[in-house]
Amino acid sequence: MEFSQYEVNALLQITNRPPVVFTEGHGMWLTDHSGKRYLDYLQGWAVNCLGHTPQCVQDALAAQAKKLINPSPAFYNEPSIALAALLTKNSCFDRVFFASSGAEANEGAIKLARKWGKKFKNEAGANRYEIITFDHSFHGRTLATMSASGKPGWDSIFAPQVAGFPKAQLNDLAHVESLITEHTVAIMLEPVQGEGGVIPATREFMQGLRALTRQRGLLLIVDEVQTGIGRTGELFAYQLSGIEPDIMTLGKGIGGGVPLAALLCREEIACFEPGDQGGTYNGNPLMTAVGIAVLNELLQPDFLPAVKEKAAYLSAALLDLSDQHGLQGERGEGLLRALKLGRDIGPQIVETARDLAPVGLLLNSPRPDLLRFMPALNVTLAEIDQMIEMLSGLLSKFGH
Ligand SMILES: *Cc1c(COP(=O)(O)O)cnc(C)c1O
Repeated sequence: MEFSQYEVNALLQITNRPPVVFTEGHGMWLTDHSGKRYLDYLQGWAVNCLGHTPQCVQDALAAQAKKLINPSPAFYNEPSIALAALLTKNSCFDRVFFASSGAEANEGAIKLARKWGKKFKNEAGANRYEIITFDHSFHGRTLATMSASGKPGWDSIFAPQVAGFPKAQLNDLAHVESLITEHTVAIMLEPVQGEGGVIPATREFMQGLRALTRQRGLLLIVDEVQTGIGRTGELFAYQLSGIEPDIMTLGKGIGGGVPLAALLCREEIACFEPGDQGGTYNGNPLMTAVGIAVLNELLQPDFLPAVKEKAAYLSAALLDLSDQHGLQGERGEGLLRALKLGRDIGPQIVETARDLAPVGLLLNSPRPDLLRFMPALNVTLAEIDQMIEMLSGLLSKFGH
């Protein structure tokens, strides 16, 4: 089969895609139009937490599709109520708004914080709307979430930006504090910066932010679109630092591959009034039924402990690899990890790995000197060994 069979391609060009078309996926494996198989360490960018086409997602979709797909967000439906209850029962939050993408959930979080800031003015009576975010952070691709993001260059592509997102340096509490003004309403961060290169916020920094926000009457918002739903070995990454944030957003893993995201907050902060927030697809039962299936799988008593074991195994294997090939070590939390290459060979490794035959390997290089690993949370040790072996062969070819 030739790739040219797809030559009439009317898709808008938004990224440089390789000339392969994926036709099937199961677990850690993808198959392209020519029948070639790939070991997939991207998993839809940390989306497929149970791998490709997991049985529980297939079953939930099939069962719900036969019952009810879209009654409208103006009415209650059973799966959205049940999923909200499951999320609040297993987190420090009381209220949930469902969305279809991480960016949309973050937009909701920004709106909720601004609304809260308007409603509860500080002693000076100032309108509070500024949200301190971080250099190299990533919060999505809508105008407001791009403005909130600290990706270099993103301040000018679609200028003017949405105002009110001063940027602090991660893990530098004094810098955060220096940016607080009478207009500040919240601090928002990823517990581990994902797109920025798998950079964890330290436990001390998270605890420091919680103390600082309490002391100054500000909200603490965690963007757990990438780190939530078991990715770090805890159900939510904020649990790693023993704090309780005020607002959290989820996306990616919560739908196990289908478009589902969520905004969660504590009762005191739930200040949206009718008309403030909505969306045609929010809480639709087809997607929320999948969310229930995914969460039930993760809440099995041995699931998260197994994620931690596999994470330790992957971390040790990456360190070994680093020692063998004279690289700079590895970092991350749980099954969100990065290998520090020490040289800008990431993009070439990604291409060469993909083109390996007869079996390819899919990797990601969020920065040219890094490789990122986002396997399914139920990856097997054998699939970790196989990836390490393939990568070791590649690194030998790239020399030192
Ligand atoms: C992927 C991601 C987003 C954006 O999610 P979309 O579903 O692509 O809109 C936001 N925040 C973080 C931390 C992410 O990793």
